[in-house]
Amino acid sequence: MRTSGSREHQVVVVGGGFGGLQAVSKLRRAPVEITLVDRRNFHLFQPLTYQVATGALSPGEIAYPLRAIFKRDRNVRVLLAEVADFDLDARELHLRSVSAVPAPERLGYDTLIVAGGSHYSYFGHEDWRMHAAEVKSLESALAVRSRLLASFEAAEAELNTDAREAWLTFVVVGAGPTGVEMAGQIAELARDTLRRDFRTIDPRRARILLVEAADCVLTSFPPSLTAKAERSLQRLGVTVLTGRTVIGIDAAGVTLQGGDEGGAERIASRAVVWAAGVTASGLAGKLAELTGAEHDRAGRITVEPDLTLPGHPEVFAIGDMVRVRDRGGEPVVLPGVAPVAMQEGRYAAGVVRARLRGREHDAFRYRDKGNLATIGRAAAVADIKGVRLSGFLAWATWLVVHLWYVIGFQNRLLVLIRWSFSFATHGRGARLITGASTNSEQR
Ligand SMILES: Cc1cc2nc3c(=O)[nH]c(=O)nc-3n(C[C@H](O)[C@H](O)[C@H](O)COP(=O)(O)OP(=O)(O)OC[C@H]3O[C@@H](n4cnc5c(N)ncnc54)[C@H](O)[C@@H]3O)c2cc1C
Repeated sequence: MRTSGSREHQVVVVGGGFGGLQAVSKLRRAPVEITLVDRRNFHLFQPLTYQVATGALSPGEIAYPLRAIFKRDRNVRVLLAEVADFDLDARELHLRSVSAVPAPERLGYDTLIVAGGSHYSYFGHEDWRMHAAEVKSLESALAVRSRLLASFEAAEAELNTDAREAWLTFVVVGAGPTGVEMAGQIAELARDTLRRDFRTIDPRRARILLVEAADCVLTSFPPSLTAKAERSLQRLGVTVLTGRTVIGIDAAGVTLQGGDEGGAERIASRAVVWAAGVTASGLAGKLAELTGAEHDRAGRITVEPDLTLPGHPEVFAIGDMVRVRDRGGEPVVLPGVAPVAMQEGRYAAGVVRARLRGREHDAFRYRDKGNLATIGRAAAVADIKGVRLSGFLAWATWLVVHLWYVIGFQNRLLVLIRWSFSFATHGRGARLITGASTNSEQR
């Protein structure tokens, strides 16, 4: 590792998501200079983007400016730029400017921590993306919100019965936690919030279909909880279609395969939401290429037990973009959830601090704190160290945990107020159709 000489040790952290943010937080009191590089100027609380997509929360309530988070830490610099490449021998990053904001072409480091996250993959069908938006980024969540709300508007204006039904058919692909949450929220939007808003259509007649290739929803949960989740979804009016694979998506609907009849089944729908399969950030692939490290089919790079790259103890990779070699040398895929990224971020910071003091450190160990998924109003499932909860208790646990981790006291308070208000009134204050469909007004 390069020693600091007269200047402070330079740590560059790529990505201000869950992993990167923890790494910076745990290093800010250390004798280091930190540069946090992100192509966004905010930290996004991804676990709640689906609530933005369904009008329950506004974007500003789940995103927080990175500069504001570290405004009191004089040794932390925030840089708005995109990392395009790495020169590991020269210990430099190649940067690209974002939103026409000038960025240095190169940025040197002594220690590098890369936490680029992941994005949704469309299983090689990139053309599906424009018909089936996902809710990982804020922009995409807002596009989903517009599409969902515009579908109800279009149904209200539509005279043809079949076409109207297509507007009122909502398909969510993938029944992991995000898909289940999305389907539950769309059902509540239709049955509860919009109930009295229209004159021609009855929003309660909307069909919400949740499509999953596996034979149950929430496959990472124990069977007793997946069964409960499925029953809760059905109570909300969601039709769960398990054992079905999506084989086509276009502007007019979805084609599925694998139902009882075995053949292809066509569903006319104008609002499809994608919540299946993720792929690691392209940064993982670049690092794998440069170091010869293995990567799996989901693009995750395999890191050593101390989260560094083979042959590069000064480079850490963490979060959704990695799998970790265990002490026996076997690559282990940890769940793609925030606690994993956060623990890895804290661990990488701890290793940097230990090295600066000339101390040894142990291999990374993930401490599984449990699994939570919400379905709707007072309905959730939780598996916390073998304790299985469902219904109101699980929902209250989910609420407290998510509020706790939302960044910034102001956001925490705003989300709490919004949730309390929505719970009491069944309302959703952010039901705005924005973006492309309103562009004509601006021209
Ligand atoms: C819809 C949804 C719901 C979820 N719900 C939950 C949940 O309820 N509970 C849970 O624990 N987990 C949940 N997750 C998973 C959780 O959000 C991820 O596991 C976590 O965000 C991973 O953290 P990370 O630091 O690896 O990446 P991220 O948090 O994704 O951060 C990556 C950061 O890197 C930046 N970046 C990427 N590439 C570049 C580049 N080239 N240059 C500069 N910056 C770059 C991005 O802008 C971003 O800020 C959910 C995920 C999604 C998408």
